[in-house]
Amino acid sequence: MSTILTANNQPVEAYFQADGTWQHALKHAIRSGRHLCELLQIDPRIVSSDAESDFAVFVPMDFVQRMTLGDENDPLFRQVIAGSEELRSEGSLDPVGDLQSLRHPGYLQKYRRRALLIASGACAIHCRYCFRRHFPYENSAKGRQGWTGWLHHLRQDSTIDEVILSGGDPLMVADETLQWFSEQLNSIPHIKRLRIHTRLPVVIPQRVCTTLLDGLNRFAGATYLVLHINHANEIDARVQHALRDLRMAGITLLNQAVLLRGINDSVSHQMELCLRLIDNQVLPYYLHQLDPVKGALHFEVEDQRARQIVSGLTAQLPGYAVPKLVRENPGEPSKSPV
Ligand SMILES: *Cc1c(COP(=O)(O)O)cnc(C)c1O
Ligand code: SF4
Repeated sequence: MSTILTANNQPVEAYFQADGTWQHALKHAIRSGRHLCELLQIDPRIVSSDAESDFAVFVPMDFVQRMTLGDENDPLFRQVIAGSEELRSEGSLDPVGDLQSLRHPGYLQKYRRRALLIASGACAIHCRYCFRRHFPYENSAKGRQGWTGWLHHLRQDSTIDEVILSGGDPLMVADETLQWFSEQLNSIPHIKRLRIHTRLPVVIPQRVCTTLLDGLNRFAGATYLVLHINHANEIDARVQHALRDLRMAGITLLNQAVLLRGINDSVSHQMELCLRLIDNQVLPYYLHQLDPVKGALHFEVEDQRARQIVSGLTAQLPGYAVPKLVRENPGEPSKSPV
């Protein structure tokens, strides 16, 4: 890769030597399938610019580095490359009924006890199968004023004991905001747990910095972090290091994955993922059946096949290493077992 440039015209080698911040990693992220193919020496004819203009390509170099040169079936590459199969018209713009669950701008409640906040519309990577790829983030609450509004609503509703920060990716938010919010939650006695759903520690492991850990630690209740890792290859030494730092800060780590055709839809792939997770003290939480979002139906795996895969895991792994196979059906009181 040595003579090739990042999206911000820095030679790839210099980029990795710079040991930059997570913001630096975002700035240099790859923003086109063509560029990604060039880096990986893959034929760019598989790219669809129409699909890219519907949902932009975005992938940091740290994630690209874990892909295999010349392999167009690489499971990480497949998660981020936009091809013409996305142009099929089937599928929903709001596959899980998010819009009917909006209680306030950026504040969703579908399930008892839990409020989910759209803390950021931005992500550190664009996953082609994303169920919120058409979500109208522009209508979400913004800035300190938005967060203050959420705190007001949380204070008013004593049936809520868990706050879930979601997005987008909530760790795209500045550490000062996360720190301030964590402290504010302490003044609401019925909030017992803070949960963060994020892909950032995996995509850009340097996001797990001391100011982040310090900020999250301001919350006095229990803190859970739900990672989103679909394939064992996503976990390299730097990710392992970040996971250890999170654990050392007293945060419980869970993982949710999406079952994706051609990426992780076999017993051996899921075994490898679950083992890599538990070896790093991350508990497999959910294995999701794909939400039928427009542009991603080619990733769908049949229920029968999904059940076979999970049976295969159950036969070989300790019970705590087997994720629950679920699907989200709009209007139901929880995620539904498949
Ligand atoms: C998935 C989801 C949750 C969390 O559900 P758990 O089963 O507790 O993980 C909470 N709120 C919303 C809106 C969700 O979509
Ligand atoms: S990180 Fe999560 S919210 Fe962002 S594109 Fe990927 S799946 Fe969607």
